Amino acid sequence: MSASIVPVLPETVALAVEILNAGGLVAMPTETVYGLAADASNPDAVVRLYEAKGRPRFNPLIAHVSGLPMAMHEAVFSPLAARLAQTFWPGPLTLVLPVIAGGSVCDLARSGLQTVGLRCPSHMAANALIAEFGRPLVAPSANRSGHVSPTRADHVDADLGDRIDLVLDGGPCDVGIESTIVAVEGDTVTLLRSGAVPADALEAFIGKALERASGSGITAPGMLKSHYAPKARLRLNATEPGSGEGYLGFGPGAREGLNLSPEGDLAEAATKLFAMLRALDARYDRIAVAPIPMDGLGEAINDRLARAAHRDA
Ligand code: AMP
Ligand code: MG
Repeated sequence: MSASIVPVLPETVALAVEILNAGGLVAMPTETVYGLAADASNPDAVVRLYEAKGRPRFNPLIAHVSGLPMAMHEAVFSPLAARLAQTFWPGPLTLVLPVIAGGSVCDLARSGLQTVGLRCPSHMAANALIAEFGRPLVAPSANRSGHVSPTRADHVDADLGDRIDLVLDGGPCDVGIESTIVAVEGDTVTLLRSGAVPADALEAFIGKALERASGSGITAPGMLKSHYAPKARLRLNATEPGSGEGYLGFGPGAREGLNLSPEGDLAEAATKLFAMLRALDARYDRIAVAPIPMDGLGEAINDRLARAAHRDA
C-alpha cells in the first residue's frame, strides 16, 4: 500500500502535525532532499523511523528546528556556532554541537552521543511544519538506508510508501544534495560531511581552513563507504559509456545518455544527481559517470558518487 501523497496546504500541514503528535512518520520536502520527519522527543517514533528506513541505530539523526531560538534549547552554542547559524540558516548547514541539559531531542535520536546535529531548513513547507509542531523534528532522507536520496515525492513513495503515514508533496527539491555537516567546538570547525554549502564558503566566513574529520570516531551515515547507492554498478570518471552501460554525462561534450548539466553548472548537476541516478538505475545494470570538477558543489557531488560506486568486498 502507498502512503497518501498530498500537496502542502494549511490543512495538510495540520494533518501532518496530528500524525507527528501521535508518533507517526511524515515525509516532507526540504531544499536539500525529502526528509522523513518524526517527533525528535519521542523514542517510540524515532524507533519507527529507524525501522522504516532500515537505518543502523548507531547513526544519529539531524534535528530540524525553526530557527536559532528553538535550537538554543537543544545545544550549547559557542559564539562562532551562533554566528554560523545566523549567517547560514535557514539553509543547508548542519551544526553538530554539545547537547544541553533538558534538551528535547531524545537519546536514541542522538545515538547516545553527547552532541546533537541541528539544522534550520529554508524550505517553506518544512518551516511551516516545524513551526506548527513547535518542537524539533528529526528528518533523515526519506529513503531506505543506503539507497539513493529522494528529491521528489514519487521517489519517497517508491522507497517507503508502505512504511510511512503521509508524504507532503512540495515538488522537486531546489538544491538536491544533502546539507553540509560541521562540528563546532569553540573556534574549531570540523567538516563531517561535504554538502550543499561548499567548504570554501564556510572557510571564507570563518577566515581559516576547515578541519577534516579523520574518518574514525563520529559516524555519519553519509560517512559510510557505501551509501546513496543504486542497484547498478557505477564506473566513475568515464569520458564515454562502454557497451551496455547507461551514461550520466556532465558538460557540453556529453551527448549520450542523461546529462547532469549540459552547461557544466554544478548547482544544476546537484539538483539532478539523485533523480538521474534513479532513472538510469531503472534501465541499466551498469552506469558510467562523467568526470565532475571538484570545485564548489563538485566536492559534495563527487563524495556522493564515490559512495554510490563503492561495493564492500
Ligand atoms: P541524513 O539525515 O541521513 O542525511 O544524515 C544525517 C547526518 O547527520 C548523519 O550523517 C549523522 O551521522 C549526522 N549527525 C547527526 N547528529 C550527529 C552527531 N551528534 N554527531 C555526528 N554526526 C551527526
Ligand atoms: Mg540519507
